Amino acid sequence: MSCGVASGLLSFLAPRLCPSCGEVVLCVGEEVCESCLEGCSTLPERRCPQCGGPNVGMLEECRECQLMSGRRPWSFAVSAFPFEGKIRHWIHQFKYRKETCFGPFFATRLAEAWRKYGSDRDIDMIVPVPLNLLRYIKRGYNQAAIIAELMGKQLKLPVGKFRLVRWSRTKHQASMNLKQRKVNIRKEDFKCPFSLKGKRILLVDDVMTTGSTLAAATEKLLSCGASSVCVATIARDL
Ligand SMILES: [Zn+2]
Ligand SMILES: [Zn+2]
Repeated sequence: MSCGVASGLLSFLAPRLCPSCGEVVLCVGEEVCESCLEGCSTLPERRCPQCGGPNVGMLEECRECQLMSGRRPWSFAVSAFPFEGKIRHWIHQFKYRKETCFGPFFATRLAEAWRKYGSDRDIDMIVPVPLNLLRYIKRGYNQAAIIAELMGKQLKLPVGKFRLVRWSRTKHQASMNLKQRKVNIRKEDFKCPFSLKGKRILLVDDVMTTGSTLAAATEKLLSCGASSVCVATIARDL
């Protein structure tokens, strides 16, 4: 689909550059150029409200959520993309290669997904899932916090932060199976530096795989007084 050519003095003086190829983005309102966007995977219209992934079954929730032992602790979830192809690669660049220039693209698409699927839910505050402190020091930024800040501006919501205080180095989740992830998450301790009494929280992270990190963070937010937690992730890993 052609989007036309951007005109106007502002876009001429300060052209937006595609974070993937570095070329000028000509499409008004887009963050990534048209040719890089080509072939990007999208999620189907019908989605599971519990995990934000596709739902091809007859029931309201997807099969994975139905088969889970115990409910997910949050009330609603939305994702912007499936975790595959170009999106998977870009998230990897954004998360591990300091390519924070992908932030506006991901935040805009996630804010759009939230407006489309979650806008009937009231939110008081956006909270990013924190990084383990050692990992934060090593990486220099928290990718979830970048998304949360940008989404806060787009959705006109305040952004609160809570943090991990545990110093122990935790293994990378990506190399673990479901059981190992649950044990690993239990070892971590989230701390809320501010009151959440009665607050309706939108918890933001990059990728939902099993959801164990999001579940631990959600439980902490609820135990700190939050009245409800919804989650928004750039991508759903299926
Ligand atoms: Zn491009
Ligand atoms: Zn689901």
